[in-house]
Order: sequence, then C-alpha cells, then structure tokens
Amino acid sequence: MSYETIRRKRDGEALPPDEIREFFEAFIDERVSDYQMSAFLMAVHFRGLAPPELATLVDVMIASGAVADLSAVPGIKVDKHSTGGVGDKVSLILAPLVSSLGVPVPMMSGRGLGHTGGTVDKLESIPGFRTDLTLAEYRAQMERIGCALIAQTREIAPLDRRLYALRDVTATIESIPLIASSIMSKKLAEGIDALVLDVKQGSGAFLPEFERARALAETMIDIGRSHGRDVVALVTAMDRPLGRAVGNALEVKEAFLVLRGEGPADVREVTLALAAEMLVLGGAVPDRAAAHRQAQAALVRGRALDKMREIISAQGGDARVLDDPDLLPRAPVCSDVHATDGGVIARMDVRAIGAAAVALGAGRSRLDDEILPGVGFDIRVRPGDPVDAGQAVATVFAADEEAAAHASEALLTAIRIGAEAEPLLPLVSHRITADGIETLQT
Ligand code: URA
Repeated sequence: MSYETIRRKRDGEALPPDEIREFFEAFIDERVSDYQMSAFLMAVHFRGLAPPELATLVDVMIASGAVADLSAVPGIKVDKHSTGGVGDKVSLILAPLVSSLGVPVPMMSGRGLGHTGGTVDKLESIPGFRTDLTLAEYRAQMERIGCALIAQTREIAPLDRRLYALRDVTATIESIPLIASSIMSKKLAEGIDALVLDVKQGSGAFLPEFERARALAETMIDIGRSHGRDVVALVTAMDRPLGRAVGNALEVKEAFLVLRGEGPADVREVTLALAAEMLVLGGAVPDRAAAHRQAQAALVRGRALDKMREIISAQGGDARVLDDPDLLPRAPVCSDVHATDGGVIARMDVRAIGAAAVALGAGRSRLDDEILPGVGFDIRVRPGDPVDAGQAVATVFAADEEAAAHASEALLTAIRIGAEAEPLLPLVSHRITADGIETLQT
C-alpha cells in the first residue's frame, strides 16, 4: 500500500484524499517508515499536491495533535509567520509591539531550517528564557499578559515536527504545498483568529522567484480561508540580509535596539508594515496608516520594550539583558573581514551567507547539532555601497580561529564586489489578500 502510494505520487497522479489520509496516519503510527516518507516528500517536491490532497494533509497535520483553545483570552488573536530568512529578527520586535497595543499575539515559532534562522533559537540565547511552555502554561500566559513566544509544543501539530525534521535533511524544504501545510497546520492549531504572513523573495528565500512566493502566499491564504481565518501576506525582500546582524544572540541584541526606537531602518520598516496589518486585523486600529503611526510611537516611547520585559520575565528569562545586552552570550573569537577589491557591493548571495552562519554554529547541519548562541556576522555593507580594497565589510563572531577563517572566506565569496550594483528588490513589495494582489513599491 505505501509503496503504491509513493509510486503513484512519483508518477504524478493526484491521489484520493482518503489515500493521503491513510498514508500520513500510517506514518504517525510508525507503519510508514522515515525513508518511505522521505521518498514521498521528494515525490511531492517534484509533482506537487492538488488542492484536495493539500486540504487533507493540512487536516491530518492539525488532527495529529491538540488545538489550543484561547477562547478565554479576550480579543482577536493575531500571529505572524515568516517563510524564512537570514537576519530576520522581526518576530522578536513585532510580538511585544503588537501586544503592547492591545492585540493578543500567540506566537509559536520554529527553529532554524536549512540556511535560515529560527525565532526559537534566537530566544533561547536569552539567559533562562523558556520556549518550551506546555499548552497549559501557554494558555495561562496568554490570559495573563496577552502574548507568549514559544516553540511548537509536542502537543501542537506533532506531525509537522516530524515532517519538518525529515525535510530539513532530505532537500525537500522548497515545495509550495509542503511549506504551506507546515506553516498553516501549526498556525491553525495554535488558537489564532487571523494571521499575517511575511513571504520572502530573493536569493535568501526558500522560493526566490516572485511568482513562486506569490503562489505560496495564495496557497496559504486559501487554506486560511477554508478554515474561516483572515490571512494577509506581505512580500518582503530577502536579496540582502535583514539588518546587520546574522546569528542568534547578535540578532537578539539588534532586535532590542529596534525595540528602543533605534537599530537598522530596514528591520524597523518591515516590522512596522507587518505590525500595521496585525493591528488592523486585530481590530485595534481602523486603518493601516494610523496603525503604522501608533506602532512607530510604541517603539519610540518604550511601550514595546516594556512589554518585552514582561514577556521575558514571564518565561523565566533574565530581563536585565534588555538594558545590558552584554549579558547575552558572546563568541570567544571576533575578527573583521576585509574587502579584497574596491568597487561597489554588486549583490549578496544571501543563501550562502545563511549557510556560512549555520557552519559557524548559528544553525544545525544535523538534527542533534548544538547551537552556539554567540556566533554569526555583523555585516556593515549593503548592496550599492561603495567599498575600498582593505575596508572592513563585516565582523565574524566564531568559536575558534579556524571557524572564523572559513566564515570570512565564505562571506567574501557571498558579498560580490563589482563595478555596478544590481537592482535591489523593494523592501515590502506586495500585499496579498483573498481579494487579490496590490503592488506597494516597484
Ligand atoms: N516555516 C515553516 O514553519 N515550515 C516550512 O516548511 C518553512 C518555513
């Protein structure tokens, strides 16, 4: 039976929903092995899933665990999920920001996947911070302070956890139905009423081309709609890392700067655009322009920072890190990377930058790899910047000299210097809803 299911999907057949259900339920019961599931996932990667197959997969993923009941939390509960990027520390700012303005944010995040970083790994670099709340603790914290930043619990969509882990090591991440079902099953099970998606495009995205990013957004919006949830997607740029910091503790430190109304403008701009959508969906502010202004004021006046303090303390973390980021873990070796030629930064291979950060220990190459929280990059240049030969373009934070040397070499290959810069993608280019697509910047 499983052999036939794999063969038929491999040959491009659309399978009856019952067969999809049986296959995945058999995997849950360990009657389908990891290697058979890996083969099936690869077949899906090449052949896709028809809408009824995808709908069934999402249902099986949700039903594989509990569905959080947040009905005791007053208000419209809104979360944000990104399709994955490099230097993407937006969630660390967005969740306290939006909840400080009265919209409850139940945020269940992932760990690093492939070359991309994960919010949970970043949060765990805060001394003492617990991301492994139980469903009961999560619910209680939502009722008490209106925000929780947690890892996917064992109770929520456990099938996604197993599939995610297999996809991460079998080159089957970059598939629209597999990404869409993974994200939406978790989000629908965590108790949200509405969702904002940050869909990345560009060299550091899992789906770099705009048309694929758009198809992914539309697929997730459709899944949300069929479950009675409003979903809005913004397409944002990942043809350069977001902000300067790449690596867990370094990104936390940069996120804290933005929470103080400082930090890199691009991180702030993407965060405010997503915050405006969440505030409108959450019914706190009637329109996006007003929501944007309120969110900006909440950063400048320290309201979001105060909320972050509350969240860190509630989850057992040392909230003093907000005032003294030197309490965050630091890598023992720190060295500058110097440009070998002069010219302008022509382009950045963001996937390669993410992979170099993973190689330093900021992410995992194997399931059981330990994260080194202090390692990563501070990248001081952006595409279009002029550079002189010998100029320091970045700093590498590493566990030892050898790792630092490898990372510097990888970074110099990824940051291409030339005579002229390639055009950059707009930071927030499109807004997609069930009603259609709107171009925001060209
Ligand atoms: N984020 C997820 O949660 N799942 C994916 O498959 C990709 C990004």
